[in-house]
Amino acid sequence: MTQDELFKKLVAHCKEYGFIFPSSEIYDGLGAVYDYGQNGVELKNNIKRYWWDSMVKLHENIVGLDAAIFMHPRTWEASGHVGAFNDPLIDNRDSKKRYRADVLIEDWLAKQDEKISKEVEKARKRFGEAFDEEQYRATSPRVADIAAKRDAVHERFAEALNANDLNELRQIILDCEIVCPISGTRNWTEVRQFNLMFSTQMGSTADGASTIYLRPETAQGIFVNFLNVQKTGRMKLPFGIAQIGKAFRNEIVARQFIFRMREFEQMEMQFFVRPGDEMNWWQQWKQTRMAWHRALGFGHDNYRFHDHDKLAHYANAATDIEFNFPFGFKEVEGIHSRTDYDLSRHQEFSGKKIQYFDPEKGESYVPYVVETSIGVDRMFLQIMSAAYTEEKIDGGEERVVLRIPAPLAPTKVAVMPLVKKDGLPETAQKIVDMLKFDHNVAYDEKDSIGKRYRRQDAVGTPLCVTVDHRTLEDGTVTVRHRDTMEQERIAVEALPQLVDREVSMRRLLEQVRA
Ligand code: ATP
Repeated sequence: MTQDELFKKLVAHCKEYGFIFPSSEIYDGLGAVYDYGQNGVELKNNIKRYWWDSMVKLHENIVGLDAAIFMHPRTWEASGHVGAFNDPLIDNRDSKKRYRADVLIEDWLAKQDEKISKEVEKARKRFGEAFDEEQYRATSPRVADIAAKRDAVHERFAEALNANDLNELRQIILDCEIVCPISGTRNWTEVRQFNLMFSTQMGSTADGASTIYLRPETAQGIFVNFLNVQKTGRMKLPFGIAQIGKAFRNEIVARQFIFRMREFEQMEMQFFVRPGDEMNWWQQWKQTRMAWHRALGFGHDNYRFHDHDKLAHYANAATDIEFNFPFGFKEVEGIHSRTDYDLSRHQEFSGKKIQYFDPEKGESYVPYVVETSIGVDRMFLQIMSAAYTEEKIDGGEERVVLRIPAPLAPTKVAVMPLVKKDGLPETAQKIVDMLKFDHNVAYDEKDSIGKRYRRQDAVGTPLCVTVDHRTLEDGTVTVRHRDTMEQERIAVEALPQLVDREVSMRRLLEQVRA
Protein backbone atom coordinates (compact mmCIF):
# COMPACT_ATOMS: atom_id res chain seq x y z
CA MET A 1 0.00 0.00 0.00
CA THR A 2 1.43 3.41 -0.91
CA GLN A 3 1.45 6.18 1.68
CA ASP A 4 -1.14 7.99 -0.40
CA GLU A 5 -3.51 5.02 -0.30
CA LEU A 6 -2.89 4.65 3.42
CA PHE A 7 -3.84 8.27 4.00
CA LYS A 8 -7.06 7.90 1.99
CA LYS A 9 -7.98 4.82 3.96
CA LEU A 10 -7.29 6.61 7.19
CA VAL A 11 -9.58 9.50 6.29
CA ALA A 12 -12.36 7.05 5.34
CA HIS A 13 -11.80 5.08 8.54
CA CYS A 14 -12.05 8.23 10.66
CA LYS A 15 -15.47 8.90 9.20
CA GLU A 16 -16.80 5.36 9.17
CA TYR A 17 -15.95 4.79 12.83
CA GLY A 18 -17.18 8.07 14.27
CA PHE A 19 -13.86 9.86 14.75
CA ILE A 20 -14.10 12.78 12.32
CA PHE A 21 -16.86 14.14 10.07
CA PRO A 22 -16.67 17.05 7.62
CA SER A 23 -18.36 20.09 9.18
CA SER A 24 -22.00 20.63 8.16
CA GLU A 25 -21.73 17.71 5.80
CA ILE A 26 -25.40 17.74 4.77
CA TYR A 27 -24.62 21.07 3.10
CA ASP A 28 -21.57 19.55 1.39
CA GLY A 29 -19.15 20.55 4.12
CA LEU A 30 -17.10 23.67 4.79
CA GLY A 31 -13.49 23.93 3.59
CA ALA A 32 -10.97 22.70 6.15
CA VAL A 33 -13.43 22.60 9.04
CA TYR A 34 -14.22 19.30 10.76
CA ASP A 35 -16.33 17.88 13.56
CA TYR A 36 -15.20 15.20 15.98
CA GLY A 37 -17.60 12.28 16.41
CA GLN A 38 -18.32 10.03 19.35
CA ASN A 39 -14.92 8.32 19.29
CA GLY A 40 -13.00 11.36 18.10
CA VAL A 41 -14.06 13.53 20.99
CA GLU A 42 -12.89 10.90 23.50
CA LEU A 43 -9.48 10.55 21.87
CA LYS A 44 -9.17 14.32 21.65
CA ASN A 45 -10.05 14.77 25.32
CA ASN A 46 -7.47 12.15 26.27
CA ILE A 47 -4.77 13.89 24.22
CA LYS A 48 -5.59 17.13 25.99
CA ARG A 49 -5.45 15.46 29.38
CA TYR A 50 -2.09 13.84 28.58
CA TRP A 51 -0.73 17.27 27.68
CA TRP A 52 -2.39 19.16 30.53
CA ASP A 53 -1.28 16.69 33.19
CA SER A 54 2.27 16.60 31.85
CA MET A 55 2.41 20.39 32.14
CA VAL A 56 0.21 21.46 35.03
CA LYS A 57 0.17 18.38 37.26
CA LEU A 58 3.81 17.43 36.90
CA HIS A 59 5.26 20.92 37.25
CA GLU A 60 4.72 22.82 40.45
CA ASN A 61 5.65 26.01 38.64
CA ILE A 62 3.17 25.70 35.75
CA VAL A 63 -0.45 26.76 36.16
CA GLY A 64 -3.41 26.78 33.77
CA LEU A 65 -5.55 29.47 32.17
CA ASP A 66 -8.66 29.65 30.01
CA ALA A 67 -8.77 33.01 28.23
CA ALA A 68 -11.53 34.17 25.89
CA ILE A 69 -11.29 33.78 22.13
CA PHE A 70 -12.25 37.42 21.58
CA MET A 71 -9.66 39.92 22.72
CA HIS A 72 -9.30 43.67 22.54
CA PRO A 73 -8.32 44.51 18.93
CA ARG A 74 -5.21 46.37 20.12
CA THR A 75 -3.87 42.97 21.26
CA TRP A 76 -3.30 41.99 17.64
CA GLU A 77 -1.64 45.26 16.74
CA ALA A 78 0.74 44.82 19.66
CA SER A 79 1.48 41.18 18.81
CA GLY A 80 2.26 42.08 15.21
CA HIS A 81 -0.52 39.95 13.75
CA VAL A 82 -2.38 42.83 12.09
CA GLY A 83 0.74 43.91 10.24
CA ALA A 84 2.63 40.69 9.70
CA PHE A 85 0.57 37.52 10.09
CA ASN A 86 0.76 36.84 6.40
CA ASP A 87 1.46 33.94 4.11
CA PRO A 88 2.92 34.48 0.64
CA LEU A 89 0.40 33.14 -1.85
CA ILE A 90 0.71 32.37 -5.54
CA ASP A 91 -1.89 31.25 -8.08
CA ASN A 92 -1.55 29.00 -11.07
CA ARG A 93 -3.39 30.67 -13.94
CA ASP A 94 -4.32 27.41 -15.65
CA SER A 95 -5.67 25.36 -12.76
CA LYS A 96 -6.85 28.47 -10.85
CA LYS A 97 -5.43 26.79 -7.75
CA ARG A 98 -3.83 28.79 -4.99
CA TYR A 99 -0.65 27.77 -3.19
CA ARG A 100 1.66 29.00 -0.50
CA ALA A 101 4.84 30.03 -2.28
CA ASP A 102 7.01 28.99 0.68
CA VAL A 103 5.39 25.55 0.82
CA LEU A 104 5.97 24.95 -2.91
CA ILE A 105 9.67 25.65 -2.39
CA GLU A 106 9.88 23.59 0.81
CA ASP A 107 8.33 20.64 -1.02
CA TRP A 108 10.87 21.03 -3.82
CA LEU A 109 13.69 20.99 -1.25
CA ALA A 110 12.27 17.86 0.37
CA LYS A 111 12.18 16.22 -3.09
CA GLN A 112 15.92 16.81 -3.52
CA ASP A 113 16.52 14.95 -0.25
CA GLU A 114 14.36 12.12 -1.52
CA LYS A 115 16.38 12.02 -4.75
CA ILE A 116 19.59 11.70 -2.73
CA SER A 117 18.10 8.90 -0.63
CA LYS A 118 17.10 7.08 -3.82
CA GLU A 119 20.64 7.35 -5.18
CA VAL A 120 21.97 5.93 -1.91
CA GLU A 121 19.52 3.02 -2.03
CA LYS A 122 20.43 2.24 -5.64
CA ALA A 123 24.10 2.20 -4.73
CA ARG A 124 23.43 0.01 -1.70
CA LYS A 125 21.87 -2.59 -4.00
CA ARG A 126 24.74 -2.32 -6.47
CA PHE A 127 27.55 -2.68 -3.92
CA GLY A 128 25.86 -5.14 -1.58
CA GLU A 129 27.64 -6.03 1.66
CA ALA A 130 30.64 -3.81 1.01
CA PHE A 131 28.55 -0.64 0.82
CA ASP A 132 29.76 2.28 2.92
CA GLU A 133 26.97 4.85 2.98
CA GLU A 134 28.97 7.64 4.53
CA GLN A 135 31.73 7.33 1.97
CA TYR A 136 29.24 7.13 -0.88
CA ARG A 137 27.42 10.26 0.24
CA ALA A 138 30.75 12.08 0.52
CA THR A 139 32.16 11.03 -2.85
CA SER A 140 29.35 10.39 -5.36
CA PRO A 141 29.35 13.16 -7.99
CA ARG A 142 25.61 12.66 -8.61
CA VAL A 143 24.79 13.12 -4.91
CA ALA A 144 27.14 16.11 -4.71
CA ASP A 145 25.36 17.70 -7.68
CA ILE A 146 21.89 17.39 -6.18
CA ALA A 147 23.09 18.50 -2.75
CA ALA A 148 24.85 21.58 -4.14
CA LYS A 149 21.75 22.64 -6.06
CA ARG A 150 19.55 22.05 -3.03
CA ASP A 151 21.85 24.01 -0.71
CA ALA A 152 22.01 26.95 -3.10
CA VAL A 153 18.22 27.13 -3.37
CA HIS A 154 17.89 26.69 0.39
CA GLU A 155 20.14 29.66 0.97
CA ARG A 156 18.25 31.86 -1.51
CA PHE A 157 14.96 30.78 0.05
CA ALA A 158 16.02 31.63 3.61
CA GLU A 159 17.30 35.04 2.47
CA ALA A 160 14.10 35.80 0.54
CA LEU A 161 11.94 34.86 3.52
CA ASN A 162 13.94 36.96 5.91
CA ALA A 163 13.91 39.94 3.57
CA ASN A 164 10.22 39.41 2.76
CA ASP A 165 11.25 39.47 -0.88
CA LEU A 166 8.18 38.22 -2.76
CA ASN A 167 9.70 38.66 -6.22
CA GLU A 168 12.62 36.48 -5.27
CA LEU A 169 10.27 33.77 -3.95
CA ARG A 170 8.56 33.76 -7.35
CA GLN A 171 11.91 33.69 -9.13
CA ILE A 172 12.99 30.64 -7.11
CA ILE A 173 9.77 28.87 -8.14
CA LEU A 174 10.51 29.67 -11.78
CA ASP A 175 14.21 28.78 -11.56
CA CYS A 176 13.46 25.44 -9.92
CA GLU A 177 10.88 24.79 -12.65
CA ILE A 178 8.22 24.00 -10.07
CA VAL A 179 4.94 23.06 -11.75
CA CYS A 180 1.39 23.15 -10.45
CA PRO A 181 0.50 19.60 -9.36
CA ILE A 182 -2.96 19.98 -10.94
CA SER A 183 -2.32 21.63 -14.31
CA GLY A 184 1.32 20.62 -14.63
CA THR A 185 2.18 24.13 -15.92
CA ARG A 186 4.45 26.94 -14.78
CA ASN A 187 1.97 29.70 -15.51
CA TRP A 188 2.32 31.44 -12.13
CA THR A 189 0.97 34.81 -10.96
CA GLU A 190 2.91 37.25 -8.81
CA VAL A 191 3.38 36.36 -5.14
CA ARG A 192 1.13 38.34 -2.77
CA GLN A 193 0.82 38.62 0.98
CA PHE A 194 -2.38 37.35 2.55
CA ASN A 195 -3.41 38.03 6.16
CA LEU A 196 -4.65 34.92 7.90
CA MET A 197 -6.83 36.45 10.62
CA PHE A 198 -10.61 36.15 10.54
CA SER A 199 -12.41 39.31 11.57
CA THR A 200 -15.93 40.03 12.71
CA GLN A 201 -17.91 42.89 14.24
CA MET A 202 -18.61 43.35 17.92
CA GLY A 203 -21.54 45.59 18.93
CA SER A 204 -25.17 45.71 17.88
CA THR A 205 -25.15 48.39 15.18
CA ALA A 206 -22.80 48.66 12.27
CA ASP A 207 -22.01 52.26 13.27
CA GLY A 208 -20.98 51.60 16.82
CA ALA A 209 -19.41 48.25 16.04
CA SER A 210 -15.71 47.64 16.10
CA THR A 211 -13.71 45.08 14.19
CA ILE A 212 -12.43 42.27 16.32
CA TYR A 213 -10.53 39.12 15.41
CA LEU A 214 -10.92 35.45 16.12
CA ARG A 215 -7.62 34.70 17.83
CA PRO A 216 -5.07 33.08 15.49
CA GLU A 217 -3.12 31.68 18.46
CA THR A 218 -3.90 31.16 22.13
CA ALA A 219 -0.59 32.63 23.32
CA GLN A 220 -1.71 36.24 23.47
CA GLY A 221 -4.40 35.39 26.05
CA ILE A 222 -1.54 34.22 28.26
CA PHE A 223 0.62 37.29 27.73
CA VAL A 224 -2.12 39.79 28.56
CA ASN A 225 -2.84 37.85 31.76
CA PHE A 226 0.81 37.58 32.80
CA LEU A 227 0.51 39.99 35.73
CA ASN A 228 -2.90 38.68 36.85
CA VAL A 229 -1.57 35.16 37.19
CA GLN A 230 1.85 36.11 38.52
CA LYS A 231 0.41 38.30 41.26
CA THR A 232 -2.62 36.22 42.31
CA GLY A 233 -0.61 32.98 42.15
CA ARG A 234 2.44 34.60 43.78
CA MET A 235 4.50 32.98 41.05
CA LYS A 236 8.27 33.27 41.04
CA LEU A 237 10.39 33.07 37.90
CA PRO A 238 10.85 30.70 36.20
CA PHE A 239 7.20 29.74 35.85
CA GLY A 240 4.77 28.79 33.12
CA ILE A 241 1.16 29.34 32.10
CA ALA A 242 -0.56 26.61 30.08
CA GLN A 243 -3.70 26.92 28.00
CA ILE A 244 -5.76 24.77 25.65
CA GLY A 245 -8.19 26.48 23.30
CA LYS A 246 -9.48 27.17 19.83
CA ALA A 247 -7.57 29.22 17.30
CA PHE A 248 -8.60 30.34 13.81
CA ARG A 249 -6.60 30.95 10.66
CA ASN A 250 -7.89 31.61 7.18
CA GLU A 251 -5.39 29.17 5.67
CA ILE A 252 -4.81 29.58 1.95
CA VAL A 253 -4.23 25.94 1.25
CA ALA A 254 -6.13 23.54 3.37
CA ARG A 255 -6.10 20.17 1.68
CA GLN A 256 -4.60 17.80 4.17
CA PHE A 257 -7.55 16.76 6.26
CA ILE A 258 -7.09 17.87 9.87
CA PHE A 259 -3.41 18.72 9.36
CA ARG A 260 -4.26 22.26 8.30
CA MET A 261 -7.64 23.53 9.42
CA ARG A 262 -9.28 26.94 9.54
CA GLU A 263 -10.64 26.29 13.03
CA PHE A 264 -8.36 24.21 15.23
CA GLU A 265 -7.22 23.76 18.78
CA GLN A 266 -3.88 24.57 20.32
CA MET A 267 -2.14 23.54 23.52
CA GLU A 268 0.34 26.25 24.40
CA MET A 269 2.59 26.84 27.35
CA GLN A 270 4.49 30.09 27.85
CA PHE A 271 7.43 29.72 30.21
CA PHE A 272 8.67 32.99 31.73
CA VAL A 273 12.37 33.15 32.55
CA ARG A 274 15.13 35.57 33.47
CA PRO A 275 16.67 37.37 30.48
CA GLY A 276 19.79 35.43 29.52
CA ASP A 277 18.44 32.08 30.74
CA GLU A 278 16.21 31.55 27.72
CA MET A 279 18.57 29.42 25.62
CA ASN A 280 19.04 26.89 28.43
CA TRP A 281 15.31 26.66 28.93
CA TRP A 282 14.71 26.41 25.21
CA GLN A 283 17.07 23.41 25.06
CA GLN A 284 15.42 21.87 28.08
CA TRP A 285 11.90 22.25 26.72
CA LYS A 286 12.99 20.74 23.41
CA GLN A 287 14.03 17.58 25.25
CA THR A 288 10.97 17.47 27.49
CA ARG A 289 8.56 17.87 24.60
CA MET A 290 10.34 15.27 22.48
CA ALA A 291 10.12 12.83 25.41
CA TRP A 292 6.36 13.51 25.60
CA HIS A 293 5.94 12.51 21.95
CA ARG A 294 8.25 9.53 22.07
CA ALA A 295 6.55 8.09 25.18
CA LEU A 296 3.68 7.12 22.89
CA GLY A 297 5.86 4.41 21.40
CA PHE A 298 5.48 5.23 17.69
CA GLY A 299 9.19 4.78 17.00
CA HIS A 300 12.14 6.98 17.77
CA ASP A 301 13.00 7.58 14.12
CA ASN A 302 9.58 8.93 13.26
CA TYR A 303 10.42 12.23 14.98
CA ARG A 304 12.99 14.88 14.26
CA PHE A 305 13.77 18.48 15.07
CA HIS A 306 13.67 21.01 12.28
CA ASP A 307 15.18 24.41 13.00
CA HIS A 308 13.50 27.37 11.35
CA ASP A 309 15.08 29.08 8.34
CA LYS A 310 13.15 32.20 9.05
CA LEU A 311 12.78 33.33 12.60
CA ALA A 312 9.49 35.02 13.35
CA HIS A 313 9.78 38.70 14.21
CA TYR A 314 9.60 37.86 17.92
CA ALA A 315 11.96 34.88 18.15
CA ASN A 316 15.67 34.39 18.78
CA ALA A 317 15.54 30.59 18.42
CA ALA A 318 12.89 28.27 17.04
CA THR A 319 12.56 24.63 16.22
CA ASP A 320 9.75 22.32 15.18
CA ILE A 321 9.16 18.76 16.24
CA GLU A 322 8.26 16.94 13.04
CA PHE A 323 6.51 13.61 12.75
CA ASN A 324 6.69 11.20 9.85
CA PHE A 325 3.11 11.45 8.54
CA PRO A 326 1.95 9.39 5.54
CA PHE A 327 2.70 12.53 3.49
CA GLY A 328 6.20 13.02 4.90
CA PHE A 329 7.87 14.66 7.90
CA LYS A 330 5.74 17.65 8.96
CA GLU A 331 5.51 19.95 11.96
CA VAL A 332 3.37 18.96 14.92
CA GLU A 333 4.81 21.30 17.50
CA GLY A 334 6.86 24.48 17.68
CA ILE A 335 9.28 25.37 20.47
CA HIS A 336 10.14 29.03 20.29
CA SER A 337 12.26 31.39 22.29
CA ARG A 338 10.11 34.54 22.01
CA THR A 339 12.43 36.89 23.94
CA ASP A 340 10.66 39.74 25.78
CA TYR A 341 8.94 40.78 22.55
CA ASP A 342 5.31 40.07 23.45
CA LEU A 343 5.31 41.41 27.00
CA SER A 344 7.24 44.52 25.96
CA ARG A 345 4.86 45.22 23.10
CA HIS A 346 1.81 44.85 25.36
CA GLN A 347 3.51 47.15 27.84
CA GLU A 348 4.02 49.69 25.08
CA PHE A 349 0.55 49.41 23.51
CA SER A 350 -1.45 49.28 26.76
CA GLY A 351 0.63 51.84 28.61
CA LYS A 352 0.62 49.48 31.64
CA LYS A 353 3.82 48.37 33.24
CA ILE A 354 4.29 44.63 32.70
CA GLN A 355 7.36 43.70 34.71
CA TYR A 356 8.53 41.24 37.27
CA PHE A 357 10.31 42.22 40.46
CA ASP A 358 13.14 39.77 40.99
CA PRO A 359 13.78 39.59 44.75
CA GLU A 360 17.18 37.92 44.27
CA LYS A 361 18.45 40.53 41.84
CA GLY A 362 16.61 43.36 43.56
CA GLU A 363 15.40 44.75 40.21
CA SER A 364 12.39 44.76 37.90
CA TYR A 365 12.47 43.62 34.29
CA VAL A 366 10.34 42.23 31.48
CA PRO A 367 10.77 38.43 31.55
CA TYR A 368 11.84 36.40 28.52
CA VAL A 369 9.57 33.67 27.21
CA VAL A 370 10.07 30.15 25.91
CA GLU A 371 6.93 28.76 24.30
CA THR A 372 5.83 25.24 23.46
CA SER A 373 2.94 25.22 21.00
CA ILE A 374 1.23 22.14 19.66
CA GLY A 375 -1.97 21.57 17.68
CA VAL A 376 -4.41 19.10 19.22
CA ASP A 377 -5.69 18.17 15.78
CA ARG A 378 -2.24 17.52 14.34
CA MET A 379 -1.49 15.41 17.38
CA PHE A 380 -4.71 13.52 16.69
CA LEU A 381 -3.59 12.91 13.13
CA GLN A 382 -0.17 11.79 14.34
CA ILE A 383 -1.79 9.19 16.58
CA MET A 384 -4.27 7.99 13.99
CA SER A 385 -1.68 7.65 11.24
CA ALA A 386 0.75 5.80 13.50
CA ALA A 387 -1.98 3.61 15.00
CA TYR A 388 -3.80 2.52 11.83
CA THR A 389 -2.71 -1.01 10.92
CA GLU A 390 -4.03 -3.62 8.55
CA GLU A 391 -2.86 -7.13 9.29
CA LYS A 392 -3.42 -10.73 8.38
CA ILE A 393 -4.46 -12.96 11.23
CA ASP A 394 -4.94 -16.70 11.62
CA GLY A 395 -7.17 -18.36 9.08
CA GLY A 396 -6.32 -15.84 6.36
CA GLU A 397 -8.66 -13.25 7.84
CA GLU A 398 -7.69 -9.58 7.85
CA ARG A 399 -8.21 -7.08 10.58
CA VAL A 400 -7.90 -3.32 10.85
CA VAL A 401 -6.62 -2.38 14.26
CA LEU A 402 -5.97 1.05 15.73
CA ARG A 403 -2.97 0.64 17.99
CA ILE A 404 -3.78 3.77 19.96
CA PRO A 405 -1.75 3.90 23.18
CA ALA A 406 -4.14 2.43 25.77
CA PRO A 407 -4.27 5.52 28.04
CA LEU A 408 -5.51 7.58 25.07
CA ALA A 409 -7.95 5.06 23.58
CA PRO A 410 -11.57 6.33 23.34
CA THR A 411 -13.01 3.20 24.97
CA LYS A 412 -10.91 1.22 27.41
CA VAL A 413 -12.94 -1.96 27.81
CA ALA A 414 -15.72 -3.66 25.85
CA VAL A 415 -17.76 -6.16 27.82
CA MET A 416 -19.50 -8.91 25.82
CA PRO A 417 -21.80 -11.72 26.82
CA LEU A 418 -21.00 -14.78 24.70
CA VAL A 419 -24.73 -15.34 24.05
CA LYS A 420 -27.80 -13.19 24.61
CA LYS A 421 -29.43 -15.55 27.14
CA ASP A 422 -28.94 -17.65 30.28
CA GLY A 423 -28.28 -14.56 32.40
CA LEU A 424 -25.00 -13.73 30.62
CA PRO A 425 -26.14 -10.22 29.52
CA GLU A 426 -27.09 -9.38 33.12
CA THR A 427 -23.72 -10.54 34.43
CA ALA A 428 -21.93 -8.55 31.71
CA GLN A 429 -23.98 -5.47 32.57
CA LYS A 430 -22.88 -5.79 36.21
CA ILE A 431 -19.27 -5.71 35.08
CA VAL A 432 -19.97 -2.58 33.02
CA ASP A 433 -21.53 -0.98 36.11
CA MET A 434 -18.48 -1.88 38.18
CA LEU A 435 -15.97 -0.35 35.74
CA LYS A 436 -17.83 2.64 34.32
CA PHE A 437 -17.11 5.02 37.19
CA ASP A 438 -13.42 4.94 36.35
CA HIS A 439 -13.29 4.16 32.64
CA ASN A 440 -15.12 4.45 29.33
CA VAL A 441 -16.73 1.06 28.93
CA ALA A 442 -18.76 -0.32 26.01
CA TYR A 443 -21.31 -3.12 26.08
CA ASP A 444 -21.83 -5.20 22.95
CA GLU A 445 -24.02 -8.27 22.50
CA LYS A 446 -24.67 -8.24 18.75
CA ASP A 447 -23.10 -10.62 16.18
CA SER A 448 -20.48 -13.31 16.66
CA ILE A 449 -17.71 -12.75 19.17
CA GLY A 450 -15.18 -12.56 16.30
CA LYS A 451 -17.09 -9.73 14.66
CA ARG A 452 -17.37 -7.91 17.97
CA TYR A 453 -13.61 -8.15 18.47
CA ARG A 454 -13.07 -6.70 14.96
CA ARG A 455 -15.36 -3.79 15.75
CA GLN A 456 -13.44 -2.97 18.92
CA ASP A 457 -10.08 -3.37 17.14
CA ALA A 458 -11.21 -0.84 14.55
CA VAL A 459 -11.79 1.82 17.20
CA GLY A 460 -8.71 0.92 19.24
CA THR A 461 -10.30 -0.58 22.38
CA PRO A 462 -7.37 -2.16 24.27
CA LEU A 463 -9.33 -4.76 26.27
CA CYS A 464 -12.34 -6.99 25.57
CA VAL A 465 -13.96 -8.93 28.41
CA THR A 466 -16.10 -11.93 27.51
CA VAL A 467 -18.68 -13.35 29.87
CA ASP A 468 -19.58 -17.03 29.26
CA HIS A 469 -21.29 -19.87 31.10
CA ARG A 470 -18.18 -20.57 33.11
CA THR A 471 -18.41 -17.04 34.50
CA LEU A 472 -21.66 -18.01 36.20
CA GLU A 473 -19.98 -21.04 37.78
CA ASP A 474 -16.60 -19.77 38.90
CA GLY A 475 -16.73 -15.95 38.53
CA THR A 476 -14.00 -15.74 35.90
CA VAL A 477 -13.99 -13.98 32.52
CA THR A 478 -11.82 -14.00 29.40
CA VAL A 479 -9.78 -10.88 28.81
CA ARG A 480 -8.56 -10.38 25.27
CA HIS A 481 -5.74 -7.93 24.52
CA ARG A 482 -6.06 -5.83 21.35
CA ASP A 483 -2.47 -5.79 20.10
CA THR A 484 -1.37 -9.36 20.79
CA MET A 485 -4.88 -10.87 20.61
CA GLU A 486 -3.79 -12.98 23.56
CA GLN A 487 -6.46 -14.11 25.96
CA GLU A 488 -6.29 -14.77 29.67
CA ARG A 489 -8.79 -16.03 32.19
CA ILE A 490 -9.11 -13.94 35.34
CA ALA A 491 -11.49 -13.47 38.25
CA VAL A 492 -14.07 -10.72 37.88
CA GLU A 493 -12.80 -9.11 41.11
CA ALA A 494 -9.33 -8.79 39.57
CA LEU A 495 -10.67 -6.82 36.59
CA PRO A 496 -10.53 -3.27 38.02
CA GLN A 497 -6.88 -3.68 38.91
CA LEU A 498 -5.98 -5.15 35.54
CA VAL A 499 -7.78 -2.40 33.64
CA ASP A 500 -6.16 0.30 35.81
CA ARG A 501 -2.73 -1.14 35.12
CA GLU A 502 -3.24 -1.43 31.36
CA VAL A 503 -4.78 1.96 30.66
CA SER A 504 -3.28 4.21 33.30
CA MET A 505 -2.06 7.60 32.07
CA ARG A 506 0.62 7.35 34.73
CA ARG A 507 2.61 4.96 32.52
CA LEU A 508 2.98 7.71 29.92
CA LEU A 509 3.52 10.52 32.37
CA GLU A 510 6.34 8.70 34.14
CA GLN A 511 8.33 8.82 30.93
CA VAL A 512 8.12 12.61 30.81
CA ARG A 513 8.33 13.24 34.52
CA ALA A 514 9.41 16.71 35.48
P1 ATP B 1 2.58 25.85 9.60
O1 ATP B 1 3.98 26.25 9.24
O2 ATP B 1 2.29 24.39 9.39
O3 ATP B 1 1.52 26.75 9.03
P2 ATP B 1 2.97 27.35 11.97
O4 ATP B 1 4.44 27.29 12.09
O5 ATP B 1 2.28 28.54 11.46
O6 ATP B 1 2.45 26.04 11.17
P3 ATP B 1 2.52 27.77 14.74
O7 ATP B 1 2.04 29.14 14.55
O8 ATP B 1 3.88 27.55 15.30
O9 ATP B 1 2.35 26.96 13.37
O10 ATP B 1 1.43 26.97 15.59
C1 ATP B 1 1.77 26.00 16.55
C2 ATP B 1 1.10 24.69 16.27
O11 ATP B 1 -0.30 24.86 16.02
C3 ATP B 1 1.60 23.98 15.02
O12 ATP B 1 2.76 23.24 15.33
C4 ATP B 1 0.45 23.08 14.66
O13 ATP B 1 0.47 21.88 15.41
C5 ATP B 1 -0.75 23.88 15.09
N1 ATP B 1 -1.36 24.54 13.93
C6 ATP B 1 -1.00 25.72 13.37
N2 ATP B 1 -1.80 26.01 12.33
C7 ATP B 1 -2.69 24.99 12.24
C8 ATP B 1 -3.78 24.71 11.37
N3 ATP B 1 -4.13 25.55 10.40
N4 ATP B 1 -4.49 23.57 11.56
C9 ATP B 1 -4.16 22.72 12.55
N5 ATP B 1 -3.14 22.93 13.39
C10 ATP B 1 -2.41 24.05 13.25
